[in-house]
Order: sequence, then structure tokens, then C-alpha cells
Amino acid sequence: MFWCEYVHGRRSFDFAQDKSAVHRLKPKKPEKAMKLEKIEHIGIAVKEISEVSKFYKDIFECQISEEIDVPERKLRIAFTEISGVKLEFLMPTDSGSVVAKFIDKKGEGIHHICFEVEDVERAITELKEKGVELVDDKPRLGAEGKKIIFIKPKSTHGVLIELKEK
Ligand code: ZN
Repeated sequence: MFWCEYVHGRRSFDFAQDKSAVHRLKPKKPEKAMKLEKIEHIGIAVKEISEVSKFYKDIFECQISEEIDVPERKLRIAFTEISGVKLEFLMPTDSGSVVAKFIDKKGEGIHHICFEVEDVERAITELKEKGVELVDDKPRLGAEGKKIIFIKPKSTHGVLIELKEK
């Protein structure tokens, strides 16, 4: 019980009081860079971002972020957050965008799921060693300036997985 409270930061603990406790409670560094820390967000492909934002605002009373243009990915993006998990609305701004192609093929809907990891570079090395196919060779910077990488759905039983650095 105490451990759970400690890792979730609900209780402070004076380590100086008990040296043995320091040893006992020191959070272990994940040995694997690919330990999925949490679902960071779910990417949803949409045709018209303002309509989707309005829907979530009106129906579910969600707060929606500003819209962000990501010209290098030919996307306009907005977020909402539910209990620490974001929904990332992705609207293509050009028919050449991969999200436009996704919508052409499958219609609007869930496009990818993003997990947070400790270290994207290390995760990439590990994934490559294990023969997992990545969309890019190197990490790129996501809309929020964090390192990200995508894993090809054919390596993940059909889900486009994004890994994002903490
Ligand atoms: Zn994403």
C-alpha cells in the first residue's frame, strides 16, 4: 500500500530518517526502454476539426485546446484530455497527408494509440534489434516538441503505435 502511495506521489517520505528505506523504496529504473508507462493519447482522424471539437464541447462538455498547425505532417491538431489521457484530433490539411489517405481508406476514426516511454532512442534500438518495423528510422519531434516514433501496424497486429518520450 505504502509503495503505491509513494510511486503515485501522494505521500512524501523523509528518506533521511531511514537509510534502509532509501534502499528499499528506491524506484527501479526500467530495464527496458520500451516499458509502456501510460497511454499518452489516442489519435483520431477527423475530416473537420472544428465540428469534432464542437461535438466534444457540446455533448461531453470537454475543454478543447487551441488548434495547432503541423505543416510538415500536413495536419491541424487539437487535443482534449480525459483523466490524464488525451484525445488528439488529426485533420489533414492536404490530400497528400497520410491521415487524408487513412480517411479515404477507412473513414474517420481511431488512427493510432500513443504510449509514453522513458527513452525513445533506446526504444528504437531495442525495437530494431527485435525486428519490429518502424515508420521512420529516427525519432521526430511531435506537436508538443517531444521525441516520437511510430511502429508499423503490420508489426503490431494492426494498430499504429506511437511511442512518445516522457
Ligand atoms: Zn499522436
